[in-house]
Amino acid sequence: MVGPAYVQRLKKLEIKTVGDLLYHFPHRYEDFSNLVSISDLKIGEKATITGEVVTIQNQFTRSSKKIQRAVIRDKTGIIEATWFNQPFLIKTLRPGTKINLSGQPTQFRGKKIFNSPEHEIVQRSTGSEAHRLKAIHTGRLVPVYPETAGLSSKWLRSRIAPLIKKSTQEIEEFLPSSVMKRNDLIGIKEALEQIHFPKSIKRVETARKRFAFEEFFLIQINIQERKTAWKKEKTAPNLSCPKEKISQFKKSLPFKLTSAQEKVSREILIDIAKNKPMNRLLEGDVGSGKTVVAAMAILASFLNNSQSALMAPTTILAHQHFKTLDRLLGPFGVKTTLLTGAEKKPTEKFNLLVGTQALIHKRAQFENLGLIIIDEQHRFGVNQRGTLVKKQQSKNFPHLLTMTATPIPRTIALTLYGDLDLSILDELPPGRIKNKTWIIPNQKRTSAHQWIKEEIKKGSQAFIVCPLIEESQSETLSSVKAAKIEFQILQKTFSKFNVGLLHGKMKPREKEIVLTKFKGGDFSLLVTTPVVEVGIDIPNATIIVIEGAERFGLAQLHQLRGRVGRNKEQSYCLLFSNNPSQNSLKRLRAMEKNHQGISLAEIDLKLRGPGEIYGRKQHGFLKLKAASLDDLSLIRKTKQEAKRIFLKLNKYPLLKEELKKYKISHVEPN
Ligand code: ADP
Ligand code: MG
Repeated sequence: MVGPAYVQRLKKLEIKTVGDLLYHFPHRYEDFSNLVSISDLKIGEKATITGEVVTIQNQFTRSSKKIQRAVIRDKTGIIEATWFNQPFLIKTLRPGTKINLSGQPTQFRGKKIFNSPEHEIVQRSTGSEAHRLKAIHTGRLVPVYPETAGLSSKWLRSRIAPLIKKSTQEIEEFLPSSVMKRNDLIGIKEALEQIHFPKSIKRVETARKRFAFEEFFLIQINIQERKTAWKKEKTAPNLSCPKEKISQFKKSLPFKLTSAQEKVSREILIDIAKNKPMNRLLEGDVGSGKTVVAAMAILASFLNNSQSALMAPTTILAHQHFKTLDRLLGPFGVKTTLLTGAEKKPTEKFNLLVGTQALIHKRAQFENLGLIIIDEQHRFGVNQRGTLVKKQQSKNFPHLLTMTATPIPRTIALTLYGDLDLSILDELPPGRIKNKTWIIPNQKRTSAHQWIKEEIKKGSQAFIVCPLIEESQSETLSSVKAAKIEFQILQKTFSKFNVGLLHGKMKPREKEIVLTKFKGGDFSLLVTTPVVEVGIDIPNATIIVIEGAERFGLAQLHQLRGRVGRNKEQSYCLLFSNNPSQNSLKRLRAMEKNHQGISLAEIDLKLRGPGEIYGRKQHGFLKLKAASLDDLSLIRKTKQEAKRIFLKLNKYPLLKEELKKYKISHVEPN
C-alpha cells in the first residue's frame, strides 16, 4: 500500500497497478557487487563493505547544515562515512547495527572515507530479534530506475523487491511453452527477478531477451487480430471508375500529376474497385500532393452513388480540405459539406462530408458511405478510426484510406502497421526549389531578424513557430501562453509589419479569420504554436522560423518545414537554438543537409533511438519497455510465432488474458 502522494508520483511514471510496477524496468545497474573488507578498500574504486556502526553523530557545518558522521568497523579496520542533511540516520544507524556501505572511497585529510555512500541495514542491533536481511541497495548489482521527483530508485527497489518475492507464487506464465522452447526464452518469474535484482549482467540480458520477445509477440498477435477482423468484415461497395472520367479530372487540374501520384492513385483505384474493403496507408512527404490523390478516390465513390467522408485532425485543415475538394470536385457535381465543432449535423444531401473528429462525436449519418479518408492519421488512435468505420451499419463496409506525411521507417511500419497495405508518394511535384535550412545560434538572432525584415519587404511572409513547452498531443495552456508572450515580443521587433497570432485555444472562426488574413497578405508574420500548423497551405509564405528547434524531433521539424516552399520561390527554414548539445547539433545539421522525410526519420532513429522517438510514455504511443524497434530479426521471428499461435489462441487462456491488457492505441513520433 502506498499513500496518495506516491500514487500521484507513480502515475507520472505510468504506474497504476502492481503489474505496472513489476514491469517498470531498471534502465541501468550500479555495480556494487565488489565485496571487500575495509582494509582492502581502494580510493575511487566502487565497492561494498559490511561492518558494524561504532559511533554516529550529527555535526553542524559553518553554514549550519547538518552532517552525519559515522565510524564503521569490520575485522580488518575502521572507516569513516559522512552524509549530508539526513539527521534521521542517527536513529536508524544506532551503534551496533550491522550495515552495508556501497560507494567509491575518497581521500580526505590523508584518510580513506566514504562520502554519501549507499547504506543498507543487514542486521539490526536489537539483541534477541537480530536477523539477517537480504540486501537490495548494496553489495550487488543494484537496479537504477527511471525516476520522477519524490520517487527514488531506493523507494522503488524497496517496493519491487517484496513484490518479486510474492510473484513467485502468484504470477503465471502466459507464453506458450512451445514458443518459449523454440526461442530459448526464460520463464516470467525468473525473468522478473533477474531484470530487477540480477545475479549478473548476463542474466539481465536473458531477462531482457524474454521481455523484448514478449512485447513484439503480443503486438504481432494484435496485428493478426486486427487483420483478421478486417478481412472478416462484410463486403465493400465496388467503386470502379470509368477511365475517361479520371482523365477528364486530370485535365481539369492546373498541373500534371507526378508519376508517383499516377502510380499511387492507380493502386487505390484498383483497390476500391474490389468488393473487399480497402485498408491502405498513403505515406507521402509534405507537399507531395496527397489531396488530389484522395480527390480521385472520392470522385470514383461519387460516380458509384456512394458517399465519402474525410476526417482531418484540426479544424483549420478541415476547412482547407473543404475548400480544395469543393473546388476540385464541384465541377463534377460532387456536393461537399463541412462538419466541425462549429457546424450542425448536415440535414441536406451531400456526397462528401469533410470534417474533424466531430464526424465521430456528432454521429454524422450517412445513407451510403463507401469511402473513408483520414488525413494525417498518425494523430488519431487506431481505435478512433475503427469507431468511425463501425458507426456505419449498412450492409456494405466502407473502404479506408489513411494518409500521413509522417515518415515511418520501414521497420516501424512493419511492426505497427503490419495489417495495412502501403502506398508511398516518393516524389515531389516538379519545379520546387530545395529549401535552405540554417541553424541560427543565439548571437545571430538580431541579424536573422534583420534579414527576415528585408525578405518581407520584398514580399515574403514568415511563420514563427514557438518552442515545444510540453510534450503533448494536444496544445497545452502553457504553450498558448508562450505563444502569446512571443507574439508580444515579435510585435515590437517587427513593429513596422503586421503580425498575426494563431493557437489552438482560439475559436475556429477566429482561426479562420487569422488564416485568411495571412493567406491574403494582411499579416506578414504569423506566430503559431507547434501543434496547430499541421497541413496548412499558405503558398506565399517562404520563411519559417522554429524557436527552440533542438526540442523537436526531426520528423516534426521536417513537417514544420513543409509549411514553406509550396510555390516556385526559394524557401528558408531558420532553426533557432540556444546552446544545443553535441547530439542536438548533429540532428539539426541533418536538417540542413537532408530534405527527405524518410531519411530524416531514419537518422533520428539512429541518433536518438526508437525509445526516445516512439516510446515516450506520456504520449500513450507504443510503450516498448525492453524491445527495440530496430531489431528487425526479432520482429520477423515474433511475427512468425504470432501467426502460428494466433490460429489456436483459444488453447492459451492466460495469453488471451494478457493480450487484453496490451493494445496499441497510438503511434506518433516526436
Ligand atoms: P500534402 O501531400 O502535403 O497533403 P497537398 O495535397 O496539400 O500536399 O499539395 C501541396 C501543394 O502542391 C498544393 O498546393 C497542390 O495544389 C500542389 N500540387 C499537388 N500535386 C501537384 C503536381 N503534380 N504538380 C504541381 N503541384 C501540385
Ligand atoms: Mg495534406
